[in-house]
Amino acid sequence: MISLDAPLDTLRGIGPARARDLREAGVATVEDLLLHLPLRYEDRTSFLPIAALAPGVRGTIRGRVRSAALRRTRVRGLTIFEVLVEDGTGAIRVIFFNQPYLRTHLTRGREVILYGEAKGSRPGRRGLALESPQIEIAGDEEGAEGIHMGRIVPIHLRLPGLSPRAIRTLVHRLLRGLPADLPDPLPPGLADTRSLMARGRAFREAHFPGEGSDLAALQARATPAQRRLIFEEFFFLQLGFALERRASDAAGRGGPGLHVDDALRDRLRAVLPFRLTSAQRRALQEIAADLLSPRPMNRLLQGDVGCGKTMVALLAALLVAENGLQTVFMAPTEILAEQHHRLFTRLLQGRGVPVGLLTASVTGSARRQVLAGLESGALRLVVGTHALVEDEVRFRALRLLVIDEQHRFGVAQRGRLRDKGDRPDVLVMTATPIPRSLALTVYGDLDVSVIDALPPGRRPVLTVLREAAGRARVYEFVRRKVEAGRQAFVVVPVIEETERGDLQAAASLRERLQREVFPGRPIGLLHGRLPAEEREAVMADFAQGRLPVLVATTVIEVGIDVPNAAVMVVEQADRFGLSQLHQLRGRVGRGAHESYCVLLAEESATDEARQRLQVLCDTSDGFEVARRDLELRGPGQFLGTRQSGMADLRLGDLMRDQDLLEEAREAAFATAAGAGRLPAPLAAHLERRFGPRLRMIQIG
Ligand code: ADP
Ligand code: MG
Repeated sequence: MISLDAPLDTLRGIGPARARDLREAGVATVEDLLLHLPLRYEDRTSFLPIAALAPGVRGTIRGRVRSAALRRTRVRGLTIFEVLVEDGTGAIRVIFFNQPYLRTHLTRGREVILYGEAKGSRPGRRGLALESPQIEIAGDEEGAEGIHMGRIVPIHLRLPGLSPRAIRTLVHRLLRGLPADLPDPLPPGLADTRSLMARGRAFREAHFPGEGSDLAALQARATPAQRRLIFEEFFFLQLGFALERRASDAAGRGGPGLHVDDALRDRLRAVLPFRLTSAQRRALQEIAADLLSPRPMNRLLQGDVGCGKTMVALLAALLVAENGLQTVFMAPTEILAEQHHRLFTRLLQGRGVPVGLLTASVTGSARRQVLAGLESGALRLVVGTHALVEDEVRFRALRLLVIDEQHRFGVAQRGRLRDKGDRPDVLVMTATPIPRSLALTVYGDLDVSVIDALPPGRRPVLTVLREAAGRARVYEFVRRKVEAGRQAFVVVPVIEETERGDLQAAASLRERLQREVFPGRPIGLLHGRLPAEEREAVMADFAQGRLPVLVATTVIEVGIDVPNAAVMVVEQADRFGLSQLHQLRGRVGRGAHESYCVLLAEESATDEARQRLQVLCDTSDGFEVARRDLELRGPGQFLGTRQSGMADLRLGDLMRDQDLLEEAREAAFATAAGAGRLPAPLAAHLERRFGPRLRMIQIG
């Protein structure tokens, strides 16, 4: 009998070397292999007769190779391997580009199974053909019928050293050796109440669907078998979060909850020069409820650029200050910290709540004063950067930690800050709004508040896509706006701030603009490789209107507020992600003037890239942008590789399976809340699936 946690080299046909390669690809055990679900399925109960192929027809055919020839072309390096495949009904040409090695596999007389789309004759080409179809050599090994043919056949994603056909054989054998009633790692009862299919059966039907299965549902991973396994995956991912959460709740908060009364509410309200939007009010209420409750807050506040998150966080900080306790407001850059500091100081003038600033640039007596104020507790609100994490910074009563734009701030640093207080409340703000399902996965240990509306009267940034060929006209437009007193950003792509070529391109663009478009006007250049003082000097010059035009890399992406900046040009816009572009354009449209964002597409940009950019022209809603971006790029790229949690998902799809994710989350949190100690099988499975992550959590 095969056990699920057996390493793969216990299987026939897999030696230690291959097992090692597989392990590196994340498939270490028998269970891992079973969780490697088919990418798609082919109905091979019958094959499509070749005679039935016509342009645009997609399907699976089975035939013999009648002839094969490798051709070199006049295009350098391009080879074409062409075979003629026939079945009883006819023959079709099959073409492969740059795969000369197929020569040794698709030899004359070989029986093959091909899956692809027939393409019609094009001018200068001959007749109907299959171009680069997926191929499988039909072996005549025993049992081929019933595994590789004569049924709905699973097509798995290739693994190191294992073709889809080899995986199919392996999994088929594995499933036969599995006990009929596989133990279920889900808590007892859950499978019943949710009508989930038994685990063993789910594996069988997900890999080898029975006769009459719904092919469309299979492709969509929507069969009961597949959904059962997806549910399980989400459940354990969320259970990990739920346990983390339980551990922190159990620890409770350090001090007492906060106190609020009407007088205090009035004092808070009086601080703002405007009325909160109802979305802001809702978020603030959720945060306040956390601050009053006996368990520490762990909350993510998301909302589009400019929706008013900072204001909500400031009110929360005031609530804390009014209770005699302290708040740290953590910004990702010095520029931003200084900006917040100016704003808060202005808003809180005469309210008896001084605001401190602590960055690397704050030195000497100013620094000593801030440090003393924090230690004595006299200073109840401090804005700053990483400098706040340093050991010399000590608090009297740190209660609230606000972290702005968490993407720039490591979890470890968050932890070090947290340790400066007695389990303070944590509020993380992000301006890359992501769908709720994704937020639950990536920040699963956090509660989520959403501000889903902008303050009234906000005019969207008019965004257009222009060809690089029309650049001169674009800059003429910018020049006119500058003449009219506006300021402009010109954003250039520097993917790695260390890429010298890109930086040179930025410098020479600045020079060219200076010479050709803005003679006699100063133009700034801002990038991450400049020394900090220089960077801040440039930024200050721009903020105070001394520089009408600023050529910059994405260092301006985060939160710079210059209301007079009303125009942005993004060079080579196709090199940026959608959400990033949305962040960038949030830098304009902050004042009373009509604002513009011009996306320049290089001639070389693909149609796909242009379509992507068009999304920004069509909508100014950050959630919609994020949703489209996510759809187009997938969660891995969207979030960047650093985000944990994502890598762990093998079956579930955050967009497709949102309903399951929500259900699984609910079940997982209920389980964590209910069980004093996790049932052993549950804990064991959790450890197996998410071992490394969970080592930090106390189970039970
Ligand atoms: P975010 O942090 O979400 O990017 P901010 O809090 O910085 O947004 O707010 C963006 C701008 O909108 C600021 O100039 C702020 O003063 C203004 N603002 C915020 N809330 C409101 C509101 N309810 N009504 C009017 N203006 C607001
Ligand atoms: Mg902001």
